[in-house]
Amino acid sequence: MHNAGMSSKLIVAIVGAGPSGLMAAETLANSPNSKNFDIHLYDAMPSAGRKFLLAGRGGLNITHSEPTEKFVKRYSAEFGEVTAIQEAVRAFDPQSLIQWVTGLGITTFVGSSGRVFPHEMKAAPLLRAWLARLKNCGVKLHSRTRLINIVPASKNKSAIELLFEGSDRLRYTISADACVLALGGASWAKLGSDGAWVSWLENLGLKISPLEPANCGFNCVWSDFIKSKYAGSAIKNCAVSVGELPAIRGEFVITESGIEGQLVYALSSQLRAEVKAHDSANLYIDLKPDKTQAQVLERLCTPRGSRSFAKHLQSTLNLSGQYAAILRELAPASDFAAMQTLASRIKRLKIKVTSPRPIDEAISTAGGIRLTEMNDYLMFQQFPGIFAAGEMLDWEAPTGGYLLNACLATGRVAGKGVNNFLEFRLNGQV
Ligand SMILES: Cc1cc2nc3c(=O)[nH]c(=O)nc-3n(C[C@H](O)[C@H](O)[C@H](O)COP(=O)(O)OP(=O)(O)OC[C@H]3O[C@@H](n4cnc5c(N)ncnc54)[C@H](O)[C@@H]3O)c2cc1C
Repeated sequence: MHNAGMSSKLIVAIVGAGPSGLMAAETLANSPNSKNFDIHLYDAMPSAGRKFLLAGRGGLNITHSEPTEKFVKRYSAEFGEVTAIQEAVRAFDPQSLIQWVTGLGITTFVGSSGRVFPHEMKAAPLLRAWLARLKNCGVKLHSRTRLINIVPASKNKSAIELLFEGSDRLRYTISADACVLALGGASWAKLGSDGAWVSWLENLGLKISPLEPANCGFNCVWSDFIKSKYAGSAIKNCAVSVGELPAIRGEFVITESGIEGQLVYALSSQLRAEVKAHDSANLYIDLKPDKTQAQVLERLCTPRGSRSFAKHLQSTLNLSGQYAAILRELAPASDFAAMQTLASRIKRLKIKVTSPRPIDEAISTAGGIRLTEMNDYLMFQQFPGIFAAGEMLDWEAPTGGYLLNACLATGRVAGKGVNNFLEFRLNGQV
């Protein structure tokens, strides 16, 4: 345990040492008034940035190279209010982010899809360099320190009180002049973000949109044959669509319980909305996106001779293995007797999904603190001095580097906000 309260400086408590909290700490440590601040960064886990490290496991997609105006349109929220996120991202756009990464000694490259990655692909070298830089700037990291409640400042009490529990299970209160909550969403709880903050903030009367899985897999009913033979197999080079939305191309993966992967994540917010409205959602797969329906039909109608129909599908349309298996699974048997119908099925094969996979498995979390609760600096309108950043806020975006970009950008806004807020106090104005 430490005693933040003994400092003669203004105490800033940043809770959550993920990308958004680390960025808030760095912004504040580099702010014009930093010499007057004692910056404490708390995290429940034994070390910082655990989810960030996981994000680096499959290749850390740090941002996207598309033009900023297109980039900012990727962000949405259930209640439509994402201006603050878009402004944050405009101010810390992909170019600024790449420069910042380069400043940590990490070089980046743009992948074929426009996504930006560190050359080493991993998060660990970046995190190491970042934590060392924060330490040099005087940011004090307190690991294994879990926030369990927060009491805002009031008319009679200018300090914000944060109730923590240490690894020894002892509880203690820290008084802070300002605080940034950067506690993440509610996926991969074992890495630290468990969404426990929802109840404390709701108890303070704040509006929180329910946390829901985003960029997640979906459940559907597969036969035992598909589950045993093709779970884990990818359906590549297909196009999928939901409702009236234009089809998008890429790949997805068959799982024991349903489907997941790039295309499913990209459509997860639409699928989630459909499931909410109708208890299930239909995803349409085009197994041959490079061919028109007429071309598919022409291939199907080539003479089959003595070949089996399975061989015919394979030799005319290269549909075998998992591709032929899902066609057999999802198309009625009668389709295989009518080539016209089969051609249209190959171009528009319906998978009915019944629910998203549990939030704990999701890449990110939708919902969170409604942006109408916050001012332009991501400070709670009702509670001066308390800021929030990152996935706690109510926005969502697809994978592609948009998530980390917004977490870093909002951490930066909150860090600047704390500086401005405390500047008033330093000048004796509050
Ligand atoms: C498998 C996977 C791959 C991903 N890949 C990418 C990718 O390539 N690109 C991309 O843009 N995004 C990716 N993401 C998403 C990205 O990692 C998150 O959006 C981002 O880490 C969220 O940052 P954050 O700071 O808001 O929260 P987190 O990173 O979740 O950090 C929150 C921190 O708060 C701490 N905390 C929580 N509650 C408490 C408490 N009560 N007291 C004290 N500390 C607490 C946690 O321990 C944690 O360290 C991926 C996510 C996953 C799961």
